[in-house]
Amino acid sequence: MNRVYNFSAGPAVLPEEVLETAQNEMMDYHGCGMSVNEMSHRSSYFQEIIDTAERDIRDLMGIPANYKVLFLQGGASQQFAAIPMNMMKHKKAGYIITGNWAKKAWEEGKIYGDALALASSSDKTFSYIPDCSDLPITSDMDYIYICQNNTIYGTKFNKLPNTKGVDLVADVSSCFLSEPVNVNDYGVIYGGVQKNVGPAGLVIDIIREDLITDDVMEFTPTMLKWKTQADNGSLYNTPNCWSIYICGLVFKWLKKQGGLSVMKERNEAKAKILYDYLDQSDLFRGTVEAKDRSIMNVPFVTGNKDLDALFVKEATANGMVNLKGHRSVGGMRASIYNAMPREGIEKLVDFMSEFEKKNG
Ligand SMILES: *Cc1c(COP(=O)(O)O)cnc(C)c1O
Repeated sequence: MNRVYNFSAGPAVLPEEVLETAQNEMMDYHGCGMSVNEMSHRSSYFQEIIDTAERDIRDLMGIPANYKVLFLQGGASQQFAAIPMNMMKHKKAGYIITGNWAKKAWEEGKIYGDALALASSSDKTFSYIPDCSDLPITSDMDYIYICQNNTIYGTKFNKLPNTKGVDLVADVSSCFLSEPVNVNDYGVIYGGVQKNVGPAGLVIDIIREDLITDDVMEFTPTMLKWKTQADNGSLYNTPNCWSIYICGLVFKWLKKQGGLSVMKERNEAKAKILYDYLDQSDLFRGTVEAKDRSIMNVPFVTGNKDLDALFVKEATANGMVNLKGHRSVGGMRASIYNAMPREGIEKLVDFMSEFEKKNG
């Protein structure tokens, strides 16, 4: 077996312990004589898997009783449409544009109503988070939308916007369960799990109960109505059983590590190793304003395309893969999610330092 350090932005690295448990349970899940891949989503075995997963994510995040947890398909991108369909009662919402994913959500929102761009950091290639302390928000807006951690650009809202009392909707795909959050600060928290939690094909929505109603846009498909999903315990139709199962194992793993405050401490320490190196390097530099840095996705460049390509190639040959940056930023990006061990980052920084000596 040859495991690499996988710095992919998503689908991404998973805890080895979780993969091993899944391997052990593959042929015979808890004595039922079959794999989770083979069982009915209506079976008592699966019901327990999804119930336990919900209980554990509630524990981890401290989700209050008046919030529902939904396990849905269609990825985060499907929610770009579901959010306005379920929430735009006045057909008006504010979007803060901090990167490609926020922009895509905004563009989808415009199909259904007045989706207003309240602020944007597009003027500097999304390398910062705009000041959101006093945005032109009016009380007839149905929600304010953010992408909390910008996977491609490596920025993060380290402080939530002042929404002036309007419900906040946050896409947390690439920072899900990376640190504690105060769920009460949000109307909706949602994310695709394939970045920091589990296998692709599942999006988890955490929605305050009063936002789940029958009062949705008239054309809303049954499947995209949050009420349909909530009334049926996310089992209106066949869900992504496998991804729910693996996410459940990851929740157990996170609890065993000590929960989200421990993960935050660890993630900050891991990110610091890389940022400290970047800040003193003469060859490499980070592309993001220091105050808005993500602790999950770290883009960096040398400023020379050929050197960037050489770096990615040599890193790959040394067992550190998927470091090529997104095409809109160029250079490199190291995604250092919960499951990336500290040793992976130390190895990367050692390698960067060697590379700098040879090529600087
Ligand atoms: C990857 C990503 C998405 C898209 O997720 P899908 O599940 O592929 O639709 C949306 N938002 C953010 C922040 C992402 O990182």
